[in-house]
Amino acid sequence: AYCLILRDLSDHRDTAAEVRQAAVCDYLTGIHNRRAFFEAAERETRRVKQRPRPLSVVLFDADHFKRINDSLGHPAGDAVLCHIASTLRASFREVDVVARIGGEEFAVLLPSTDLQGAHTVAERFCRKLAASPASTAAGEVVCTVSAGIATMADCGGDLNTLMQRADQALYATKAAGRNRVCGLALER
Ligand code: GH3
Ligand code: MG
Ligand code: MG
Repeated sequence: AYCLILRDLSDHRDTAAEVRQAAVCDYLTGIHNRRAFFEAAERETRRVKQRPRPLSVVLFDADHFKRINDSLGHPAGDAVLCHIASTLRASFREVDVVARIGGEEFAVLLPSTDLQGAHTVAERFCRKLAASPASTAAGEVVCTVSAGIATMADCGGDLNTLMQRADQALYATKAAGRNRVCGLALER
């Protein structure tokens, strides 16, 4: 005698995939979240230690974002954040890790890219975003970002230090007037 039990697990599988997706995706913009960014960055840092090659990071922070919320409302601000995220995703390579790591702060990890290369692509993005207004329910909104870049010039670099340097560079960009890029090299 045989007993055949068939169970449809597709619902269960879909739910598990949704949970996994929610853990690494930013709820508003759909790009990677902070957790996914740092997991990928740690992985890439380990790879760079095994096989030395350049690795850079760019931090982008929306300029005067509070003004957008205050003048046009939070939903318009949300639409602008989604626009920044989709423009980032469309502007960087598949291998680059594009993430929203804070309220109006984004990070892009650039494997096999040195400081000069990171500077070039970050500047190109700043120009592109400034020239492409976001469509919101409150009308078209021009938004700019400031960028801070840093690079691990060689293997043995420390991810926390890399992020701190990029953050310092971002502060320098804000102080220098916004809608531009500043970068510092990480000493070995
Ligand atoms: P700066 O150019 O110096 O970066 O100025 P800023 O106004 O962008 O910076 P500040 O830190 O003063 O304000 C950031 C604002 O971003 C305040 C906060 O309400 C807003 N914000 C953070 N997360 C979200 C979000 O998910 N949606 C919306 N609409 N606003 C957000
Ligand atoms: Mg900020
Ligand atoms: Mg800001």
